[in-house]
Amino acid sequence: MNEKVNVLGVEVDNVTMEQAVAKCAELACGERARYVATPNAEIVYTCHKDPAAMEAVSSAALIVPDGAGVVKASNMLGRPLKEKVAGVELGENILPELVRLGKKLYILGAKPGVADRAAENLMKKYPGLAVVGCRDGYFTDDDEVIKGINASNADVLFVCLGAPRQELWMNKHAGELTSVRLMLGLGGSVDIYAGDTERAPDFFVKHGLEWFYRLAKQPGRVGRIMKRLPPFISAVKKQRREEKKAAKNG
Ligand code: UDP
Repeated sequence: MNEKVNVLGVEVDNVTMEQAVAKCAELACGERARYVATPNAEIVYTCHKDPAAMEAVSSAALIVPDGAGVVKASNMLGRPLKEKVAGVELGENILPELVRLGKKLYILGAKPGVADRAAENLMKKYPGLAVVGCRDGYFTDDDEVIKGINASNADVLFVCLGAPRQELWMNKHAGELTSVRLMLGLGGSVDIYAGDTERAPDFFVKHGLEWFYRLAKQPGRVGRIMKRLPPFISAVKKQRREEKKAAKNG
């Protein structure tokens, strides 16, 4: 297995997008349900503060750095991650693999109707893709949702309930899923697949300015993330100081 980079206690897998896709394909063909977590800086900070979130994210079979913030933190710590592996892109990049392997997808999450529109768009874009079920993310009865997923006989499940709820949900219910082998916690990606939220144009993505684009488009969400950024950076600096001290003493 690949090397891991500890950022505030979260052991992030140091993988390229290509390696992450290959790992997802392997998990989709596995023996039991495993999951992929895609934490950004905000979620890493949440894990740092909340042991339940840390436990749920840490139990993932693959943890990829969703945001430029996590990659920058790894640089600050002197153990650079190879690249950002955005959840929204990973979710799409595995779809040709699902077609190739004949694996069926179920999409769980977002407001009523969104997952259905996402399914329609993705099946159009990836001919041969089988989306065998959808369900919105505003439910209270987990058992009924799990029954629906099991009845669909899906192999792969996108769980888009927002973090850390989706990681807690995947960790708690993995053992109850009878056909699903791979779950991906993808947050607001389903809104993007549905065409409800715009993806940042390439220019912004390439220059690490996605946050700036989103700030203009989703001021509430980005405001929340930006508020967490200074404490995240301070915590990473503290980790760096402690690691340097330990290295000197050891
Ligand atoms: N969401 C959901 N159920 C909930 C809360 C949120 O399905 O109880 C969905 C929400 O509609 C959105 C997604 O979770 O599609 C991610 O929400 P958010 O933007 O807050 O999270 P992030 O993308 O930052 O993880």
